[in-house]
Amino acid sequence: MANVVVVGSQWGDEGKGKIVDWLSERADVVVRYQGGHNAGHTLVIDGVSYKLSLLPSGLVRGKFSVIGNGVVVDPHHFVSEVEKIAGQGISVTPEVLRIAENAPLILSLHRELDALREDSNSGLKIGTTRRGIGPAYEDKVGRRAIRVCDLGEPETLRDKIERLLTHHNALRRGMGAVEISAEAIHSELMAVADKILPFMDRVWDLLDERRKRGERILFEGAQGALLDNDHGTYPFVTSSNTVAGQAAPGSGLGPAAIDYVLGITKAYTTRVGEGPFPSEQDNEIGQFLGEKGHEFGVVTGRKRRCGWFDAVIVRQTVRTSGIHGIALTKLDVLDGMDEIQVCVGYELDGQRIDYLPASMGAQSRVKPIYETLDGWKETTAGARSWAELPAQAIKYVRRIEELIGASVAMLSTSPEREDTILVQDPFQD
Ligand code: GDP
Repeated sequence: MANVVVVGSQWGDEGKGKIVDWLSERADVVVRYQGGHNAGHTLVIDGVSYKLSLLPSGLVRGKFSVIGNGVVVDPHHFVSEVEKIAGQGISVTPEVLRIAENAPLILSLHRELDALREDSNSGLKIGTTRRGIGPAYEDKVGRRAIRVCDLGEPETLRDKIERLLTHHNALRRGMGAVEISAEAIHSELMAVADKILPFMDRVWDLLDERRKRGERILFEGAQGALLDNDHGTYPFVTSSNTVAGQAAPGSGLGPAAIDYVLGITKAYTTRVGEGPFPSEQDNEIGQFLGEKGHEFGVVTGRKRRCGWFDAVIVRQTVRTSGIHGIALTKLDVLDGMDEIQVCVGYELDGQRIDYLPASMGAQSRVKPIYETLDGWKETTAGARSWAELPAQAIKYVRRIEELIGASVAMLSTSPEREDTILVQDPFQD
C-alpha cells in the first residue's frame, strides 16, 4: 500500500498527463491538490486525445477522483469541462467525483482583475493564463473568498459577496474599471450552484477513510516545482505551492500519508511566459526542440521557450519536493542531435554556484555552465526496454541521474502510455 504524489520538477509541461494516466490505472483514488483550470493535461488513449485542465485525469480511466481544497474552482469552467468530456463518452457524476466543500471559487471578477493587471502598462508582467487563478488565491489568503460550501447557503453567500465587493470595488475604482453589483455576482453563482453542490463533500474525511481501508491514492500535481510560490522563480511563479508537500494541506491529509514522490522530468527544459530560464536556447536548437516536442500550451496555445536540460534546477527540486524517483519524459525529442548539452552549474558574478539563487536580480544574472555529451542517431521513440536504447542515450540518462541525485523510476519514449520503460513501480515502493 502506498500513496504517490506526482509533481512536475521543472516549470510545468513535463508530460505529467501521460504518467498520471499510467499510474492512475494502479490507483484507487486520484486527487488534485493545487492550481486551477490552468493545469492543461493531455491524455492520449487508444489514439483519442483528452484535454483536461481542471478535472483529475483519473476520471478518464473511471477512477474515483477528488478536487481538493487546495484547488481554486471556476464553477462555470467546471460545468463546461464536464460537458466537454461527456461529449467524448466519459460521464462525470458524484459517483466518481467529489469537490472539497472548502475549495475557494474563481469568479468573473477574478478573471477581469487578471486581465486588467496584465494589460496595464505599469508593473511586472508575470505571464498569467488570465483565468483568475491568482486573484482567487489572493482572496483565499485574504480571508474573503467565496467557497464551494457557500453555494448551499444563499443568505451567507449574500453577506460574503458584499464583503468581497468592498475590497474589489475599491480596487476597480483605482484601476478605472466599473464597479460590480452584488446581485450580478449572486446570480452568476446561483446559475451554477445546482450543478456543483451534488459533488460537494468533506474531502479530508473521505480520503482519510479510504486511506485507512488500504486504498491507493494518487496525488496529481499541476504545473511544476519551479513555479512554486515559495520555492520557484518568484515573482514569475504561480499563486499556489506546487511542491509535493502541498498534497497534504491541499487535500486535508497529514504529511505522513505521502509515501512516494515521483518527479516528472523532461529530458530538456521548457518554460511558458516570462521569467528566468538560464539554459534557454533562443536559437535553432530551441526551435528544433519546440517543433519536435510540440511545445505549445494545452490551455493557451502559447509557444513554449525551450532549452537544454538544467540539472541545477532539477537537483534543487529533488530536494524541495523530497523526490524519491523521476519519470524522465520526451527523451525521443533529442534523437538525431550530434551533441547534447546539460547545464551542470551556474556562474554568478564570477563565482561558480550549484543552486538557483533566491533573488530576482541574481536569477537573471546567472550564466549556465554546460557539459557536452554525445548525441545519438538512432531512434528511441517507442522504446519499451533499455535494450532498445542506444548506448549514448543510456549514458545521457545515467549522467542526469548522477547530476540530480535521484534515479529514473520510469522512462517515457512517446506520447503513448505503453511506450514507457518501468524501472521501479512507485506504488510498490
Ligand atoms: P503536462 O502538463 O505535464 O501533462 O504536460 P503536457 O500535457 O503539455 O504534455 C506534454 C506533451 O508531450 C503532450 O502532448 C504529451 O502527449 C507529450 N508527451 C508526453 N510524454 C512524451 C514522450 O515521452 N515523448 C513525446 N514525444 N511526447 C510526449
